[in-house]
Amino acid sequence: MVYEHYDFTRIPVVEDQAFSLESRCIRCGFAVLAPSIEELLEEENSHRTTCPLKPRQSKAKA
Ligand SMILES: [Zn+2]
Repeated sequence: MVYEHYDFTRIPVVEDQAFSLESRCIRCGFAVLAPSIEELLEEENSHRTTCPLKPRQSKAKA
């Protein structure tokens, strides 16, 4: 299964001297926060399956 990579907006966050990554779903605005890109990707993947606004098998790009 192939997912497009631009369905999330990724923002680096530095808070209390701790670096983390925030990723915000461009469809519903849901935000995930993770300390590493690997975990962020996992969070994004898990959100894609649960996103209330996820597209139904779209074959054409908008
Ligand atoms: Zn979403």
